[in-house]
Amino acid sequence: MKEKVIKSDEEWREQLTEDEYKIMRQKGTEPAFKGKYWKEKHKGVYKCAACGQPLFRSQTKYESGTGWPSFYEPIDPDSVETAPDTSHGMSRTEILCSRCEAHLGHVFDDGPNPTGLRYCTNSASLKLEEESAMSDE
Ligand code: FE
Repeated sequence: MKEKVIKSDEEWREQLTEDEYKIMRQKGTEPAFKGKYWKEKHKGVYKCAACGQPLFRSQTKYESGTGWPSFYEPIDPDSVETAPDTSHGMSRTEILCSRCEAHLGHVFDDGPNPTGLRYCTNSASLKLEEESAMSDE
């Protein structure tokens, strides 16, 4: 089992920006089409903005039309955890970083092949480590 990163609320508040804190620690959502990665095309690995754990590969990112960065699978099945979320009168599945339990977004079953899943994330929960300056397309 992987080692967890556990910090107090105060420590997260100090480490993260206000937006990152609201989204990752308080399960907020950034406005669609406003985050820094929804139309990002560079190759690389998207890591957790709070603890640095690798979460998604650019190769699995696709244009979902939602205005949020969307992926069809995590980099590793153990990197992303899920939890039931019934807030806001909806029944959804929350996705969290398995290492620090940062809120990432939600997963839906309307994604593309090969998984049919849509990991809908907040840009503020991610940090892209670029492989090169080359575009995916
Ligand atoms: Fe994390």
